[in-house]
Amino acid sequence: MSKIEEKSSVEKYRLKQLVAELSKKRGRGTELISLYIPPGKPIHEVINALREEWGTASNIKSDTTRSHVQDALVKTMQRLKLYKKTPENGLVIFCGALPTNGLGSETIFLYEIVPIKPVQTYLYRCDDHFHTEFLQEMLKEETYIGIISIDTSEAGLGLLYGDRVEVAEVLTSGVSGKHRAGGQSARRFERLREMEINEFFHRVGRHATKLFLEENKISKLVISGPGPTKDDFLKGEYLHYQLRDKIIAVIDTSYAGEEGIRETVMKAEKVLEDLRLVEEMKMVQNFLREVSKEDGLAVYGIQAIENSLNQGNVDIIIVVEDLNMIVLKVKCKYCGKEKIEYITREEYIKRKQEIISTACTECQRVEYEIEEEDYIEYIARKADIVGARVEVISSKTETGLMLKNFGGIGAILKYKYHN
Ligand SMILES: [Zn+2]
Repeated sequence: MSKIEEKSSVEKYRLKQLVAELSKKRGRGTELISLYIPPGKPIHEVINALREEWGTASNIKSDTTRSHVQDALVKTMQRLKLYKKTPENGLVIFCGALPTNGLGSETIFLYEIVPIKPVQTYLYRCDDHFHTEFLQEMLKEETYIGIISIDTSEAGLGLLYGDRVEVAEVLTSGVSGKHRAGGQSARRFERLREMEINEFFHRVGRHATKLFLEENKISKLVISGPGPTKDDFLKGEYLHYQLRDKIIAVIDTSYAGEEGIRETVMKAEKVLEDLRLVEEMKMVQNFLREVSKEDGLAVYGIQAIENSLNQGNVDIIIVVEDLNMIVLKVKCKYCGKEKIEYITREEYIKRKQEIISTACTECQRVEYEIEEEDYIEYIARKADIVGARVEVISSKTETGLMLKNFGGIGAILKYKYHN
């Protein structure tokens, strides 16, 4: 678990884009290879397994499919030989013959991904599509969140990750109810009860340390329960200070224990999913504040951002994840005249057609090299060079919609540029 690193929003975006693209690819036959290698699995073992697959593939009846599968296997084995050992998080490879320009134009492509989390199980598949679903699963946010749902009779310790809730432990206190048995002195009863509760709280604290700090590493903690018990528990500092620092919400529930954990998840859902949201909201608000200032530092619109980046004068760029723009780099094959265009994905085919049927303004010839790149990738690369930060934000939120009013992308400058 310690291998799970917090990735930047750009890295996550990049990986999501690639996975989305790969999931759409289809082979001519059953000939696309998906390979998931968990950490610790020796590369030579994988190569041996692939060599066997290569042999088995000779039984494939279709000539094209057989040669495509075998070529893909060879290419994969060659790539694997470049590794001295399996990377820390394992490795995912997709390889196969994909058409470049209609039927019969297939070329072997290989995509190599070092995943953001450790690969769990070894998998080799040969199919008419790439098995990206396991990678998609890994891409889901998996921050571990701890829950303690407590009252004087019981405490539930739960873990929340992805969309799963696990009730890890339920501790019962054995503390007697509020009403004493006949014959007991009220003071003595009260003192005993307090001692029992104090001992119970300590026990909960110890179990929390073990579960949330040692066995798992949670990033956030939610405390819940009916009435004031949870507050007493917190005030008494029974929790490890590292856990106290992680508390993001204290929630009133009707139950404690197992039932309380489920209730907490229902009630805290908003608190939990709002975290990145709050961060995004702050960024966009800051941007809007700068926009409204007379001499503010905000710029928006692709051209303005491009100019500021060229001057090295960008602190942060905020962009919605579904901007859907691409950068076209068009170069005349004869005179070398270059130009760059920013267009939407929908315009792509039409625009490309227009370009290749229009004469070069410089030399009047009509042959071009056209390269395309996802706009966010492009901007992230440029930003990296000048030390600017790029934040990709969700587009479905109110914040995202606000940014969309400005074309879906905005930037805050380092200093005000005066012409
Ligand atoms: Zn030209």
